Amino acid sequence: MALEQKVRVALVAGGRAPDTLTYAVPEDLPECGAPGTVVTVPLGSRLVSGIVLGPADPEDPAGSGRLRKIRNQIGRAAIPPHIIELASWASRYYRAPEALLRRALLPPDARRHTRQHILPLQSTPPEAGLFDQTIAMGPIEDRLWASLPTSGLSIQSLRSTWGSETNAAIQKLKRQKRIRVEEREIAHRQPALPVRSCPEFAGDLKRAPRQQALFKLLQSRYPHAVSRTELLLDDPGVNRSVTALLARGAIVEVPETALVQEPEIGPTLRREQQVAVEALENALGRFEPFLLFGITGSGKTEVHLRAAQAVRARGESVLLLVPEIGLTPQLVAQANARFPGEVAVLHSALSDNERARTWHAVAAGDLSVVIGPRSAVFAPVRNLGLIVVDEEHDAAYKQEELPRYQGRDVAVMRAKLADCPVVLASATPSLESWQNAQSGRYQLLELTTRANEGPLPVVRLVDMRVSGKKPPQTQSAPENPLETPAAGAFSPELEQALLETHAAGEQSLLFLNRRGWSRFLQCDGCGYVDICPDCSVSLTIHRRQRAAICHHCGFARPPQSRCPECRQPLASRSFGTEQIEASLHKLLPGARIARLDKDTGAKPGFLQKTVDAWRAGSLDVLIGTQMIAKGHDAPGVTLIGVLLADASLHFPDFRAAEKTFQLLAQVAGRAGRGDRPGRVLIQTRQPEHPSLNFALEHDFRGFAAGELTSRAALAYPPFGRLVRVIIEGPAEESAQHAERVAHHLRRAAGSLEGVEPGEVMVLGPAPAPIERLRGRDRHQILIKGKDAPQITQTLARARLASGTTDKTRTIIDVDPAGML
Ligand SMILES: [Zn+2]
Ligand SMILES: [Zn+2]
Repeated sequence: MALEQKVRVALVAGGRAPDTLTYAVPEDLPECGAPGTVVTVPLGSRLVSGIVLGPADPEDPAGSGRLRKIRNQIGRAAIPPHIIELASWASRYYRAPEALLRRALLPPDARRHTRQHILPLQSTPPEAGLFDQTIAMGPIEDRLWASLPTSGLSIQSLRSTWGSETNAAIQKLKRQKRIRVEEREIAHRQPALPVRSCPEFAGDLKRAPRQQALFKLLQSRYPHAVSRTELLLDDPGVNRSVTALLARGAIVEVPETALVQEPEIGPTLRREQQVAVEALENALGRFEPFLLFGITGSGKTEVHLRAAQAVRARGESVLLLVPEIGLTPQLVAQANARFPGEVAVLHSALSDNERARTWHAVAAGDLSVVIGPRSAVFAPVRNLGLIVVDEEHDAAYKQEELPRYQGRDVAVMRAKLADCPVVLASATPSLESWQNAQSGRYQLLELTTRANEGPLPVVRLVDMRVSGKKPPQTQSAPENPLETPAAGAFSPELEQALLETHAAGEQSLLFLNRRGWSRFLQCDGCGYVDICPDCSVSLTIHRRQRAAICHHCGFARPPQSRCPECRQPLASRSFGTEQIEASLHKLLPGARIARLDKDTGAKPGFLQKTVDAWRAGSLDVLIGTQMIAKGHDAPGVTLIGVLLADASLHFPDFRAAEKTFQLLAQVAGRAGRGDRPGRVLIQTRQPEHPSLNFALEHDFRGFAAGELTSRAALAYPPFGRLVRVIIEGPAEESAQHAERVAHHLRRAAGSLEGVEPGEVMVLGPAPAPIERLRGRDRHQILIKGKDAPQITQTLARARLASGTTDKTRTIIDVDPAGML
């Protein structure tokens, strides 16, 4: 008898499950012993996912005795070993449970691999049994059993009928030996084939406008064929129309090979682009980090695509990370044209089946240009030859829930482990990356001119201390603050510019990082502000919902009209996008105006429809929050207005100036993308603030130099490492626990070898900037250290872990993106 092969398997089980266990490789599945293979293994009475780490140590006593066998293999390809190492590193560095990071490595179909199927053991009761009075009146298990067909039912369908009582009933029936439970593997549906329209189709689609629109789209944009994935990117609900059109014979399925066309050849590179591409080409095959600093419109994407071509020519793969995949349809289209049949798009809007299919194709090496958001940093890309992190400064790279990690930094670590170059690209680099480029850790590549040779827009600051004075109120009669847009949102300059731009038939973009109607309601008499009962933040007024809403916990109630303290009327303070939209309708009657923020963008399809209309020029004014700061280039935009530019400057956050500068520079970069020059008006009450003035001059270097000086003085990142620890809970328990945690951290910091006293500082506990959230008190402890190892050791020695005890919750945020 052949010696049994034993392997260590990292379990992805959660709870109190062990980290790794030894399993036997079944004789009929010998290949599943390969490291990196995703498998299903038995654990207790259930099946869980796992990743094979490698052969078990023969000396290990855990590997002796009778071992349970690996049950199944998920997919044919293994995960590249360097990503398993990456997950371990991220778990240590970010103090997040390793099982959570391993979960990020698994294919989307590995989470549910079996379904419990319930079969009757005793002969099925006669159909009449269903109507038998004694059963119909009897306990639920009798009724459930009576309803079981001989072929059984899945537990899901039983739950949908019997609800929360299903589990207890099944346990009882099992004990009574009236049923048995079988784990059945979920059959994965065959991947959907690409489709194309049938030119000979002559049917009438007038009564089915969605199908008609899709049919026309297929005819005009995809005459050869298009993958379902690509269609889903345009419209997550497209599958229904596809099925209907297939049934009508208006479209047909074609083999995958129909997608492969001649790759498109890119435009001629400008000198600067050429230099950047050559530098990247020279670095292929080894780890080297680059910062590609290029002003908006300078053609960074073309550099990425050229470098990707060089990587593909070596037979290697490319991983392209973007902040938000839904906002980058142009990039996906360009990549598809350049690498036909090779592009994988990992998109959360896709169905589980589509994502699983893409994942397996990437793991197998069938798709070698992988585009995705933050989570794609863990995609199973084989033979990785290059990683690109586009818009590397973007806050979307930071995951703000467990496991809290910074996707950009994980990408750099992945490149190191995979031995390949990594490019961080931005027009407004993060100060961390910029400092790394200044110190020579990253190689700096620069693009200083715009691809279309167009000039940068003219940016002007409008001093609202002068221009924003409200006209004297003629009548002080309390108007309903929810009906009348407040005066003073637009300066006379901006008002004039909006009128001129509209009259010229050009487009205007208005940016305001505050949604809702008004920021809050305040009493003119006693100063009372309407705040959330569960959080220490004011309620924002939303007119459409007629509600005062907490943007942190979602609490909502009808807005109060009078002060509960002194009964005077409450007045609306400061404005949000909803109110600006109403003001615009007043200022430009008949103009086509749309608003994009979290409120309107939540409607399915609204974002895409609005962006399409905006690009096509069928909107005159677009007003929005930071959702409009990214992408959304429309050639017809000649005016950009920024309202309340200083609103974010005074957040209690050391990154406030950096974020404000980035936002303003990105917003200003939206103007003048076409051949007409653009102008940008920035309204502010602090026209002397350096962040605004550097943005005005398009001077990133100047901004960075000043800001880095003040960061260095305070030893803030990038000159030190920061960890933010939040303890939440009931007032007393959380305060006590925070004191204990701070004590442990101080002791741990003091015990580090080779570290000067005071080099690792533990500050706090202090009330967090948002002191109460969802009815829980919050305390904050800050750990400041010189470098990452100091921080990692301090946290490890204090044995501090994210998690929940019976009363309190501990959040550890290493390298926090913000302090709020
Ligand atoms: Zn009052
Ligand atoms: Zn709240």
